[in-house]
Amino acid sequence: MHFRSHTCGELRIADTGKKVTLSGWVQRLRDKGSLIWIDLRDRYGITQIILEEGISSPELMQAARSLGREYVIRVEGTVLERSSKNPQLPTGDIEVLPTSIEVLNASITPPFTIEDKSDGGDELRMKYRYLDLRRNPLRQNLELRHRLAFETRRYMDSQGFLEIETPYLIKSTPEGARDFVVPSRMNPGEFYALPQSPQTFKQILMVAGYDRYFQIVRCFRDEDLRADRQPEFTQIDCEMAFVTQEDVLNTFEGLTRHLFRQVKGFDPGPFERMDYATATKLYGSDKPDLRFGMPFVELNHLAKNKGFAVFDQAELVVGINAEGCAEYSRKQLDELTEFVKKPQIGAKGLVYVKYNHDGSLKSSVDKFFNEEQLKSWAETFGAKPGDLMLILSGDTNKVRKQLNELRLEMGNRLGLRNPDHYKTLWVTDFPLLEWDETSGRYFAMHHPFTSPKPEDIHLLDSNPSQVRANAYDLVINGVEIGGGSIRIHDRSLQNKMFALLGFTPEEALSQFGFLLNAFEYGAPPHGGIAFGFDRLSALMAGYDSIRDFIAFPKNNAGRDTMIDAPSPIAQHQLDELFLEIKPFNKD
Ligand code: ASP
Repeated sequence: MHFRSHTCGELRIADTGKKVTLSGWVQRLRDKGSLIWIDLRDRYGITQIILEEGISSPELMQAARSLGREYVIRVEGTVLERSSKNPQLPTGDIEVLPTSIEVLNASITPPFTIEDKSDGGDELRMKYRYLDLRRNPLRQNLELRHRLAFETRRYMDSQGFLEIETPYLIKSTPEGARDFVVPSRMNPGEFYALPQSPQTFKQILMVAGYDRYFQIVRCFRDEDLRADRQPEFTQIDCEMAFVTQEDVLNTFEGLTRHLFRQVKGFDPGPFERMDYATATKLYGSDKPDLRFGMPFVELNHLAKNKGFAVFDQAELVVGINAEGCAEYSRKQLDELTEFVKKPQIGAKGLVYVKYNHDGSLKSSVDKFFNEEQLKSWAETFGAKPGDLMLILSGDTNKVRKQLNELRLEMGNRLGLRNPDHYKTLWVTDFPLLEWDETSGRYFAMHHPFTSPKPEDIHLLDSNPSQVRANAYDLVINGVEIGGGSIRIHDRSLQNKMFALLGFTPEEALSQFGFLLNAFEYGAPPHGGIAFGFDRLSALMAGYDSIRDFIAFPKNNAGRDTMIDAPSPIAQHQLDELFLEIKPFNKD
């Protein structure tokens, strides 16, 4: 017996008259008494099966009527031209008149409909992920993901990269996010950690002389789950030796453009570049969405010391010009004020200036600023009649973050963030260090192996926060797709970096001794990058969320509800590991 001569997505008008065998799932059954239609589905599509009284035998009509949703069946029959064709369906010109229908397996009634738009809620769809995965949108997502992985391998191979696997059971280090740990039975009381990234291994591969490495690799971070974070996720991880930052950027721009060409059918062209300082000054973000303009305009020189206390006390007065929004109603302006005052954003208020079509100016601070003054603001903004200027004030870092949110909100409201448009950007020259108020110490902004810019090394002692790094991010449509850096390959500079990060020499040695030792044996200059593969897949499909680009994702509590993990383990397993569970409160 053979199960199929064709898939359910394959038959066309030219196949009319052929005897075929199809196997698949019953998506839908419509019974009009004298006519029965079955939509038969597999991974490739849907084919309509038709039975008709007087043509199909009563036994066959009976067999068809006994089918239920998601039954697995095998159908033999003849391809007919449909009288009423369905142009929505690739197989919509034909239907199959069966000579036999065989049930290969029955199905209980699925808990939600397996249609493009399902009626299942998130939790239900996660628990029955195998049913959810039967739906077209998920199948298309996984197909896209496969294509991206395949094309990544093809491109990297063509550039001389080797895919080398690095271990999943490694050593825990306190830097970075929290590690997932795995107890070692053979070494009681000791633990492996699952890698947050293959960072140290890929650098050691450079010392070993494998000067072009990549890997499509799972990484693990035990973070409290923020929206759309997964505890395990996939990176396209790369490292290169004997390269400058320019070489790394060009190689991965090449990869990204290749992926766009292969998967989206167009080349986004050369990527824009912007340094971190400019990105934060003009957009209040290290990942600006450049699908639209609306850059920040600073107004300190015009707005401060004119008697308006809010501005006078602010470190920075800064705004954006929303083109064509002068006619915003009271209600719309109130909505924007409410938006910036949300606790997640935290602004105290919003100042607006309307540049009316008749050339007059009207602001929410008319008491403090006359029309002449507002005119000079409008000039600074480059505003025209019909525009609306929106202004925030406060501490520089905070107000920039707030205005970034407002700018993105305006982008949404004005329909300037079309998911089918792609704007690619390298953000470069990130600060090397970040000061943490709570712990009173510096943290590496990227990671402790990132090299300072040579011209800034002299600032390491006197003014560490001013030191820029040879670190870069790829940003597409305001989403951080990847990041990397040129590494420190000199032991004394690496030691200095550890000292700045508050490691004693002993701590540095106990945690990263293997890397420091390796660096004693001729470490070449090297650098690399990692792309978030789940996020890249979602972005290429125009989605915000990564969850439906992972076949078996975790929910917001980090659980896999399908297999019910995590779960307790048996006492004998604990005993074998010399582990004891302390009493705890489940809530
Ligand atoms: N390991 C870094 C990360 O996971 C990327 C890199 O520096 O190559 O973000």
